Formats: sequence, C-alpha cells, structure tokens
Amino acid sequence: MTQTVHTRARAEIDLAALRANVRALCARTPGAQLMAVVKADGYGHGALPCARAAIEAGAAWVGTATPHEALALRAAGIGGRMLCWLWTPGGPWREAVEADIDVSVSGMWALEEVIEGARAAGRVARIQLKADTGLGRNGCQPADWPALVQAALAAPEVRVTGLWSHFACADEPGHPSIAAQLALFRELVAYAEKEGVEPEVRHIANSPATLTLPETHFDLVRTGIAMYGISPAPEVGAPGDFGLRPVMTLAASVALSKQVPAGHGVSYGHHYVTPKETTLALVPLGYADGIPRHASGRGPVLVGGRVRTVAGRVAMDQFVVDLDGDTVEEGADAILFGPGDRGEPSAEDWAEAAGTIAYEIVTRIGSRVPRVYLNELDENSDS
Ligand SMILES: *Cc1c(COP(=O)(O)O)cnc(C)c1O
Repeated sequence: MTQTVHTRARAEIDLAALRANVRALCARTPGAQLMAVVKADGYGHGALPCARAAIEAGAAWVGTATPHEALALRAAGIGGRMLCWLWTPGGPWREAVEADIDVSVSGMWALEEVIEGARAAGRVARIQLKADTGLGRNGCQPADWPALVQAALAAPEVRVTGLWSHFACADEPGHPSIAAQLALFRELVAYAEKEGVEPEVRHIANSPATLTLPETHFDLVRTGIAMYGISPAPEVGAPGDFGLRPVMTLAASVALSKQVPAGHGVSYGHHYVTPKETTLALVPLGYADGIPRHASGRGPVLVGGRVRTVAGRVAMDQFVVDLDGDTVEEGADAILFGPGDRGEPSAEDWAEAAGTIAYEIVTRIGSRVPRVYLNELDENSDS
C-alpha cells in the first residue's frame, strides 16, 4: 500500500521490506538467533518502528550502541533481549540493569561500575564480555582477557550471558584478518568456558559476515545494514543477490522548474554553467538534510522519468538538476534513492558519488526529513 504525502521531502520506510529482509537473514542463519541492530535511530530509518518490525519478523535480540538508545526502546515498550555496547564512565548502569538490558563489558573499569549498578538495582546484571580480536577499537585485549573473565566469574552481582567480538574487515572477502580474528575468538571463548562461563550467546558476525561467512554465525548474528536492505560493500554483492530489498526511499517535491539561457551559472560558486539553453529543477533537500555536499556535481536523482545529476553545489537546503530541456511540474517527485523499482538510483550510488559508504548515506538523513512508514501492519502475522 502506498500513500501520497505532499511534503517538501520524505523518507519512506517500507516496513514490509524490513520484515522480509529479517526473514531472509534468519533463513540464511538457521542455527543462530538474529539481533536487529537499530543504533543511530535505526541507521536513519527510525529505531522504534524498525525494532518492532524486526521482532515481528523473528529477531530475538535488539542491539544498540549507547545505553540511552536501549533505554528509549524499553521505555517505548520494546521487550525481549537487548544489548548495548558503547559505555562511558558514569553509566547509566543501574537503569540498564533495571530495564533488563544486557550490557557489554570491555574492561575492568566497566565491570566495576556494572557491579555497583547491579547492587544499586538489587538484582544480578546480565553482562556480555567483549574481546578485541583484532579490530583495535572497543573490546578487551587478549592479554587482559583472563583477568576480566576471572573477575566477572568472581562477582555474584553479574552473570556472563555472552562472549563476543567484532570484525574489522568482514566486508573485504578473503581478507586475512578474518580468519585470524575468528581463530582468536574461538580461543578466547574456549578459555572463558573452561573457566566456568556458560554463555547464552557467542557472537562475532555483522552483516557482511552474516551474508558471506557461515562459519562466523555461532549463536547469534548482529545485522544492521543488511536488515535495511543495503549491501555492506559492493565487493560483497548487491542486495538482490541475497534476497534483500532497500527499505528507505528518499524523495522530494520539485520546488521550481524553469527555463534558463545557455551560460547560466548554477548554485554557489558557479561550478556548473548551463552548456545550452535548458530547464532546471530545484530540489528542496540539502546538506542540512544529510545530502552530502561531497556529492555536488555528482549525485544521481530520478526526475521527470530520467536519472539526472546534481548540477553544481549541494547547498544547505536545496540543490538543482539540469533537466536537459525536459519539463516537469512543480510538485513532481524527485527520487534520490530507493529500491530501484522506478529506475531510481540506490543509496550505494550516492555513496559512490560522495566517496563514502551507503551506511553513511542513510544514517545521515536529517531530522528535518519526515519518515513516512509504509506497511506498518505485518500481513504475514497470525495475530
Ligand atoms: C554497527 C554494529 C553492528 C552492525 O553492523 P552491520 O555491518 O551494519 O551489520 C554489529 N556489531 C557492532 C558492534 C556494531 O557496532
């Protein structure tokens, strides 16, 4: 079902596509549970509706970066298992424990704080120990792992529910770090289990590993970008290769269409000058809405039945496309990216135009762009 909404711009979020993507990912990972990663407001798609739809489609876990993101979802009524992993001193540990959120612990400082939080909450905290198996970002160094495991086992205030890690290069098929990280992860898990940890879940796979490396699935896969129907990287494949469909369509209403003479400069700096008499269309989206300024002169947009290119600079609120003499009416759709059904470009196309990754393209869409949810009711559900 589609609805016509006349607004300056909109990001349509197709929840039926998201559910179908979750089902496709679950089918690909038969032995593992699925965590719907909805950090950063669901990669720009809206954390709450996406978490709900993912759970309807079979996601057993919801994952966020910050505890505040997780607490907001709990407050909005999202139940089930939930993990958040990006902590800083001060918590909110107690609130997370009270909300039955699994908390990631990467170091001794965090273990000490979560123990205090559990005491304050008057209940046992569910913690997941994170190992740095080579990413060099968050996670406990292998040399410090035994001490962290022992300290967690010795604390009655916490129960270790998970052992986990994160890949550095899973989106580069064949990268030697993948096998090295996997081997080290197995070793660190084996150590913890030998010492008495009985984890509910062991997990290391993000979207690219979920799609291409079945040996990394363990008990749980943490999928973000694939759930939103976007390929982690062109090298991994196209979304359709995995039965995935893009969830977000970004569109705007043409604000002005007009004829201009040859030699007319377009937008700040006059980096585009019309080569001949032509028509221009004004698209009311700019870098304040998350359209990358780096895509000036390059970003693709479907307007008037053809894919055009951003003419000149992307400004804060608007950019222009050269219609090459075609005419469109004000109010006509300019589609920046979507699933491609109408011939529109993809988020991956914009990533290439801006020299970035498609993750950033969807995540950076600003709060001034209303999200319009399509297919909120799950037609596959029995209820
Ligand atoms: C963001 C994130 C994920 C999801 O990554 P995708 O590539 O989007 O699937 C998984 N795990 C951690 C720790 C993350 O930060």
